[in-house]
Amino acid sequence: MFINGDWIETKQTLDVRNPGSGEVYRTVGLVGKEETLMAIDAAETAFAMWSKRPAVERAQFLERVAVSIEERKEMLAQVICSEMGKPIANARGEVAKSATFFKWFAEEARRVYGETIPSAEAGKRLHVIKQPLGVVGAITPWNFPLSMIARKLAPALAAGCTVVLRPSSQAPCSAIELLKIIAEVGVPKGVVNLIIGPASELSNTMMESRTIKKISFTGSTEVGKKLIRDSAQTVKRLSMELGGHAPFIVFNDADLELAVKGALTIKFNSSGQQCVCANRIYIQDDIYDAFETRFLEEVKALKVGNGFEEGSRIGPLINHDAVQKVDEQVQDARKKGATVKIGGRKLTEGKYANGAYYEPTVLTDVKEGMDILVHETFGPVAPLMRFSTEEEVIAKANHLEFGLASYAYTNDLSRMYRLSEQLEYGIVGINDPTPSTVEAPFGGLKESGLGREGGHGIDEYVEEKFISVAIKVYSSDGDQQ
Ligand code: NAP
Repeated sequence: MFINGDWIETKQTLDVRNPGSGEVYRTVGLVGKEETLMAIDAAETAFAMWSKRPAVERAQFLERVAVSIEERKEMLAQVICSEMGKPIANARGEVAKSATFFKWFAEEARRVYGETIPSAEAGKRLHVIKQPLGVVGAITPWNFPLSMIARKLAPALAAGCTVVLRPSSQAPCSAIELLKIIAEVGVPKGVVNLIIGPASELSNTMMESRTIKKISFTGSTEVGKKLIRDSAQTVKRLSMELGGHAPFIVFNDADLELAVKGALTIKFNSSGQQCVCANRIYIQDDIYDAFETRFLEEVKALKVGNGFEEGSRIGPLINHDAVQKVDEQVQDARKKGATVKIGGRKLTEGKYANGAYYEPTVLTDVKEGMDILVHETFGPVAPLMRFSTEEEVIAKANHLEFGLASYAYTNDLSRMYRLSEQLEYGIVGINDPTPSTVEAPFGGLKESGLGREGGHGIDEYVEEKFISVAIKVYSSDGDQQ
């Protein structure tokens, strides 16, 4: 653990396994309630100093973190690949994105503007200033073990907050490497503190603390709802980046090749373990057969293997439980009438024997009532469905309680606007399978979350304070009013 600027030995340890090989990759220290309280105290002490530093100085630290991440790009990508298995090319992309969060929020740090409001009374001057919230508790998932941390730390530090970070115990090594960078570039002690340990014990300690003013969480909707309930005891601010179940819609007038490539990217990147992954692929009647044929050809060509293997496009899932969950969804669909066109099996032989692998899978004849159309699929399974009209597919796309990302392929400009306005999702990619970018807001509607990261995400870490100043004014004849 890293508390108040020091790396501290712990009594208990945890083995982090490479899901591609099953081998222990690293052993990390584990902490509990006592150390969590120490981390919170350190962050509180540091807040008094960090929040008062001019924004431009905080920005300089963030810029140095961005440069240092870029300098260590390959090492960081290897850590990501080793601890959670995503193909090395995807891991390199994640590292690059992490650096951009620090760069962007270094720039944003200097633009936390206040407001002056015209008063209805002649003798009053009304102002709004923005101040950092205080100590932030950040809880992050394993699927983007570096960039999900960067997306929280960068705006929090830019705003003047200090942080207690609790990464996923399934992939905590990227967080350790990032903290080393943060220490090396001279971020003052206590500004960022790292604790790794049992999820409930550490998060309960954070939730009970009145010092922690905000929890920023990325993870499943189920755990997010629990944290929302827990936060009520001390009325904390919340950012919740939760689960998704993205529809991917292809209209008759779409560019077929673009749509096939887009679906392939957003379904199978990181082996389908992304919150923004396409979970349901709807294809309009006239283009359905051509799409299915081309999509199957492309999926057949996907190479499955360890993330380090040359040309490996589909890495392992995070663990064997995840493989089991994916397989249960596929078996449920098969039992209820779906056709497994490709895949549909755990990979357990030969080079796959010790890892957590699942075949890239395409299902057709998928119908309402199947588990896969209701629960998030965190794996390489693509269900294809036909639709006839725009109205019908919008209703189908919107009927779940998830509202994170959605995608549509069409060349009809009017339809693009109708879809953008009617799809109940925080993100709509039109002919674009990867719309997420640091400059734009990222976040979900409905049960996919609260708040936004990226874009103006620094606002999530400041509090508005209203100040009214009553002053003496003089009328035109010189009388005081
Ligand atoms: P998860 O099980 O909800 O875990 C997320 C984090 O919460 C991890 O650090 C986890 O620790 C911790 N956690 C688990 N149970 C907890 C509890 N009872 N109290 C407090 N913390 C707890 O989710 P995941 O499996 O890691 O990640 C996949 C999910 O995250 C998917 O649903 C995905 O859609 C979502 N996600 C959303 C976004 C977004 O931006 N909206 C981005 C990425 C992922 P341990 O790992 O140590 O158990």
